[in-house]
Amino acid sequence: MGSMKDLASLKQFLEGCPRCKLSRTRTHIVFGQGNPMAELMFVGEAPGRDEDEQGLAFVGRAGQLLTKIIEAIGRKREDVFIANVLKCRPPNNRNPEADEVAACRPFLEEQLRLIAPRVVVTLGTFAAQALLETDEPIGRLRGRWQTARGQRVMPTFHPAFLLRSPERKKDVWEDMKKVRDYLAGASER
Ligand code: URA
Repeated sequence: MGSMKDLASLKQFLEGCPRCKLSRTRTHIVFGQGNPMAELMFVGEAPGRDEDEQGLAFVGRAGQLLTKIIEAIGRKREDVFIANVLKCRPPNNRNPEADEVAACRPFLEEQLRLIAPRVVVTLGTFAAQALLETDEPIGRLRGRWQTARGQRVMPTFHPAFLLRSPERKKDVWEDMKKVRDYLAGASER
């Protein structure tokens, strides 16, 4: 692929992508959306049904909760960038497979390079493990600053998990306060 000059070129490069089997079942490629110069970027797992239909990341119920999470730290959805590890929906929302991650990873890495956010928040087990190249469980990773390719990463729970387990929202709030304070320059830790 090489280096792209900007996000728009990368998005164009991805059009009609045939690199993995998900290309046969998707409706739309979900590139991700938001501020191309965002200092805060969120990375989820893969598009669901609503996202596949609309071609936009996190627009279903989990996405509505993500909007609230973003607003809780005083930001707007359009200020941040929202993307997924996989750009195409796995059939019936099954878990992403290794060959799909391998095919799609360069595009996420190029998004991270071009946007160069100060903080990346990974949502859920899959995004944390893919980005950090670890198999540690999310319960151990969340809430602790990590580094991936020189970028600061805060793993937290996925909003779809919070819809099923609302009692864990307080954990996400703790994680997001760390992100908010770091971005405000109040904390280096
Ligand atoms: N879940 C994700 O991980 N990503 C989306 O875009 C929507 C739901």
